[in-house]
Parts: sequence; structure tokens; C-alpha cells
Amino acid sequence: MAVKEIVRTWDNDRLIEENIDFLKQRTKKVQFPLTEKSRQIIQDLIDSYRATPCAGIAANQLGYDKSIFVGMREDIEVEDPEQDLDDVNPRQDNCEVYINPQIDRVDDQSTQRGSEGCLSLPGLTLFLERYDKIKVRYYNVEGKAVKKPLKGFISRLFQHELDHLKGNLMFETALGDIGVEKDQDQKQLDQLSQLMKYLQKK
Ligand SMILES: [Zn+2]
Repeated sequence: MAVKEIVRTWDNDRLIEENIDFLKQRTKKVQFPLTEKSRQIIQDLIDSYRATPCAGIAANQLGYDKSIFVGMREDIEVEDPEQDLDDVNPRQDNCEVYINPQIDRVDDQSTQRGSEGCLSLPGLTLFLERYDKIKVRYYNVEGKAVKKPLKGFISRLFQHELDHLKGNLMFETALGDIGVEKDQDQKQLDQLSQLMKYLQKK
């Protein structure tokens, strides 16, 4: 129904504190059967996902306080495991609605390192370590529970979007050291350090 504006943590040279405070809140579980409001949120997520070059969007990135994200279902289009999450052009047929997602199990012996961007942290790319093999569960729009193992890019995507729904930004939950891309603009690194200082004060 509508392509919505992304809730961003910064804009030009300044932090947007009310947006940061909103993104730091944990989202609420969705009730089934879906209400009219939940259906509208899902439609806005799908519309915004299709209009934006990205691999996924969480509901709170559109200003909705619900545990839903929309993202790629399969990584057949992404051969490169270091593909930037911010950089993928979604196809209409490679789209899944993940409602009340959770991770049931992680294989902590298996991790992956790759670059990640985030629509809410515009212009920033970080190298982050994540789990690789995970077992997840979510509900689809029919209210059916889906359980599946994930690895590679979709596993990374799932962890990134689930972080959003729990009120975390990508740099807050990475497993190991955070790396910076060689050609990363200094401006976003300054914004990141301002953001980290703001979060520490909370
Ligand atoms: Zn993100």
C-alpha cells in the first residue's frame, strides 16, 4: 500500500536521537489471526522492500513496533558471501515475510565473517562475524510455523534483521572484532562513534 521512509540513526551530520531511541526498543509479538493493522504493516514492508535496494527490512525500520521482517528467502542470486546486505536488488519472487522470528539453535563452532550494511546506518559498511549454521523458526502470513536450518548469506540476513526486532543495531551483537572496509568514508565512522557514545550514556 505504501513505500515508507526508513527510520535512520543519522542524517547528514547529526544523530537523530528519537529514531535511535525507537530502534533500540524491542518490538512486540504479532497475534494470529492477523489483524487488519498487521496486514497493512506487512504490505508496507513488502512494498518498501521491493522499492529499495536491500536484502531485508525490519518493521521497526519503517516505524512499526511489531516483530516482523521481510527479506530474501533464498540466496541463489548472491554468489559472493561477502555481498553487502545493503547492496542487493531484491526480486519480487525472492521475498519472504518472517513473523515472530527466532533462532532455536546455533552451531557455535561455525561462524562466518562478511560485510554488512544497514538502511538505518546509511553509508556505513562493517566487517562482522556472525554464526553460520543456525536453526530458525518463524510464522508465515498464513500463521503457519516454518522451521528450517540456514547458513551463509540468509543466515547472516536473519541474524541482522532479528537483531533489529530485538532492539539491537548490527555492531552491538557481532561475535568478534568489528572491521572497517578500506574505502569507508570517515564521515560515517565519526557518526558511528557518536552513536556508540550516545548508546553508552543510555
Ligand atoms: Zn539493518
